[in-house]
Amino acid sequence: MTKAFVIHEYGGPEVLKWQDVEVGDPGPGEVRLRHKAVGLNFIDVYHRTGLYPLPALPAVPGMEGAGVVEAVGEDVTEFRAGDRVAYAHPPGAYSEVRLIPAAKLVALPGALSFEQGAAMMLKGMTARYLLYGCYNALPGDVVLIHAGAGGVGQILVQWAKAKGVTVIATAGSVEKAALVTGLGAEHVINYQSEDFVARVKDITHGRGVHVVYDGVGQATFLKSLDCLRPLGTMVSFGNASGPVEPFNIGLLAAKGSLFLTRPSLMTYTATREGLLAHARDLFEVVARGVVKIAEGRTRPLVEAPQAQQEMEGRRTIGSTILIP
Ligand code: NDP
Repeated sequence: MTKAFVIHEYGGPEVLKWQDVEVGDPGPGEVRLRHKAVGLNFIDVYHRTGLYPLPALPAVPGMEGAGVVEAVGEDVTEFRAGDRVAYAHPPGAYSEVRLIPAAKLVALPGALSFEQGAAMMLKGMTARYLLYGCYNALPGDVVLIHAGAGGVGQILVQWAKAKGVTVIATAGSVEKAALVTGLGAEHVINYQSEDFVARVKDITHGRGVHVVYDGVGQATFLKSLDCLRPLGTMVSFGNASGPVEPFNIGLLAAKGSLFLTRPSLMTYTATREGLLAHARDLFEVVARGVVKIAEGRTRPLVEAPQAQQEMEGRRTIGSTILIP
């Protein structure tokens, strides 16, 4: 028996119920994992509200965790009891102990703490596929990154800088904007008080950017299209402000034959090779020190409902780590 948050119905933070759950022994290909740290992500909110329905209810939400292998099932050769591991999928992280397919785990390098592992797996591998998979940003490119002070945003800004790209980032307060400047973004726009389209046009001398990485969604989507140069790429990867409304795809032609993608980390890491390649590249930029993983704010796992409310209210900065 262990403790976990369980969702029995979709709704507000109150549907997260802290209760006893049975874990049992790992089956073939599975590992029993004791969490040391759990990452808070915006997708946890979508799972709670039902914007992204979970495979079935009741379910334990939470996508990102780091911990120690307690036991392994038949056929598991890559891991054994005592190994330090981390992961970004599948749901079940809001728990003290869980079962998880071994194929979803990666070994956590000894130089990284569990807190860093839980702060970077989902967010950092996302930054990797955005910067290499969706649009391979290269030196000379100008990119626009929304919510640069967020969990994904902070890693994305630093990694884009490490690729030699010119970064324009948005942030929702003066404090957040200062932080993003400190991460190396050349231009930071407080999009609560400034018109980011006008600022981007000004900064790029009317040309626009090569790519927009937009995890904000509804509030920024159409304006983000206006920030792109002809043949630019719109990467719409999230819905922090709500899902993007249906629109006429003719707009993409009218605004300069734009490319649009709506990607998911799950596609880019669906195979074992894909997952390991993303994790390897992430660990490499972190080991070189070009991407720094702040340990973020920690709070007890039992405070996950309050942590989600803070995230929805734009009051979090960077990663929040939940400790079982
Ligand atoms: P963040 O830490 O970035 O939190 C979301 C941020 O979005 C807020 O802090 C806020 O920053 C900004 N924001 C703007 N408008 C709103 C609004 N109306 N309500 C709430 N927040 C708003 O979250 P994550 O790092 O976990 O995720 C960032 C985005 O990336 C999310 O949309 C998430 O779903 C997406 N994502 C997508 C993945 C994929 O594979 N498709 C994988 C991982 C994340 P500010 O105040 O500066 O505006």
